[in-house]
Amino acid sequence: AKRIHGFSYSIYEPGKDRAPSYEGLLESDIWTALKKGQFELYYQPRIDLRTGKIVGAEALMRWNHPLHGLILPDDFIPVSEQTGQIVPMGFWAIYQSGRDLALIKNAGFDLQKVGVNLSFRQFQDDHLAQTIHRIIDSEKIDTRILEFELTESALLSDDLHVQQSIGELSKIGIDFSLDDFGTGYSSFALLQKLPINALKIDRSFVSKIPSSSDDTEIVRAIINLAHNLNMGVIAEGVETRSQLDFLIQNNCDQVQGFFFSPPVPLTDFMKILRAD
Ligand code: C2E
Ligand code: CA
Ligand code: CA
Ligand code: CA
Repeated sequence: AKRIHGFSYSIYEPGKDRAPSYEGLLESDIWTALKKGQFELYYQPRIDLRTGKIVGAEALMRWNHPLHGLILPDDFIPVSEQTGQIVPMGFWAIYQSGRDLALIKNAGFDLQKVGVNLSFRQFQDDHLAQTIHRIIDSEKIDTRILEFELTESALLSDDLHVQQSIGELSKIGIDFSLDDFGTGYSSFALLQKLPINALKIDRSFVSKIPSSSDDTEIVRAIINLAHNLNMGVIAEGVETRSQLDFLIQNNCDQVQGFFFSPPVPLTDFMKILRAD
């Protein structure tokens, strides 16, 4: 078992699932990045549409690479899911978000929710809930603020273990939202069975409102579905005033997107909070 920040994990088996050349190189780069603290969480504000105020954020991983500069998740998350490295990286993200949340709180800001992404791959770790529990205890993370964003692929398997992990985490007060909603295969049965607090409408739908009538109807349907199931609904990737207006008119609860702010480093996020 390896240890990062005092958390041990053993899921990764060297040599297993390993693709040749470039990925192999990246794989060892990722270990270095974890050890040397090259990962950073950026924060994208979430705005409540009733008040227009920032009520939360999504934490998004960035890699400050010594040679290549800033690397975005699409260039390292899929590899890390293949190699299993997303497991320790995901634990790091929870640990780091806890530290950041404490700084935000100490600066006098009162956020409702901060979303941290959990990969489907992390659910293959038998100790997921247990390790998360330990991080929460050691960092004294306020579980009322923490929210895990799951994609439908994490829920796809009718796996009891996944449902158990989610159940255990929800018992200690953690909320879950369903990410990229509308692009996967969630069944209504699963939506009702699991403690999901909010649906996040995928950017692919939001980007085509209000011009495409199909996407407009899909967005309306998701908002109604969420509310009928007593869930909140968050639209992702809001870039224009007309998208925002449509979402306000149709009772969407929250938005995030470049129209307000891209994801930014913690210090910049605190400046935005100060100015809000
Ligand atoms: P996601 O969870 O769907 O995150 C939203 C993505 O949309 C982010 O990309 C964000 O920067 C981008 N975005 C937000 N607003 C806008 C907008 O108005 N326009 C456009 N064009 N894009 C917008 P990012 O940060 O590159 O992350 C990509 C994906 O990588 C995330 O998609 C998530 O699936 C994954 N990811 C990021 N951080 C983590 C992490 O800590 N753990 C895991 N498992 N996955 C992560
Ligand atoms: Ca997300
Ligand atoms: Ca998303
Ligand atoms: Ca996405």
